[in-house]
Amino acid sequence: MRLRLIPLLFVALGLPGVSLAQTQAFDGQVSRDGVTLYYQDASGALAAPLRKRIIDTFYFAYLRERADFRPTAPNEVRIVIDPAYNGVAYVGDKDKASTITISPGWLLKHPDDIDLVTHEAMHIVQGYPSYGDKRVPGWLVEGIADYARDRYGMDNGAAGWALPLKVGKGQTVESGYRVTGAFLKWAEGEHPGLVLALDKALRDGRYVPALWQKQTGKTLPVLWTQYAKPRLDAPPPAPARRGKR
Ligand SMILES: [Zn+2]
Repeated sequence: MRLRLIPLLFVALGLPGVSLAQTQAFDGQVSRDGVTLYYQDASGALAAPLRKRIIDTFYFAYLRERADFRPTAPNEVRIVIDPAYNGVAYVGDKDKASTITISPGWLLKHPDDIDLVTHEAMHIVQGYPSYGDKRVPGWLVEGIADYARDRYGMDNGAAGWALPLKVGKGQTVESGYRVTGAFLKWAEGEHPGLVLALDKALRDGRYVPALWQKQTGKTLPVLWTQYAKPRLDAPPPAPARRGKR
């Protein structure tokens, strides 16, 4: 596949007290398989190799996430590198619904966590009408995004990122993220098509808890128990007893 990059480079000129050529702002676009990506790094926070990995990871994940879940998902996406943003990465709503904002500080510290792009790209595919309410529970939105990170990720292993094989104490299906993602992977294995059906219902505002039963024949609490029971973390071994004195 051909990669077209149209970079506009701005090199800061020698202002007093500032050494030359330190800022390489980047504002360019790439098109691949019908999807155009606009990439903006106004402060030049990330160097070219990391930029390339972000772009490659985006396409690797998004094209397949989109094809599998919503072929009509946006064909124009923006990635903004924003040093003023203190989180990790996010996709916003309304005019930010197809924009991934990334904290360069996080990626510079955790360059192997490249598949955060895969998680965020899935949020664009999801494109749900709201977030964190009855119709669109936040735990399920994040669970599906981490399910997708596992399924479509470029190199989760490098980051030491994986869906957990065990269920920790106090975790529930509503713990979200990896906990819910691992449950969804199991549930999808048992009931193929489940995640697709959940995603569609969430997008159409039709999600209700009864949907789990409709799709699998079991209620959500029953499914969770079936999943969690054999995976519960064993309690830590009791401290070795001292011999009697
Ligand atoms: Zn997320």
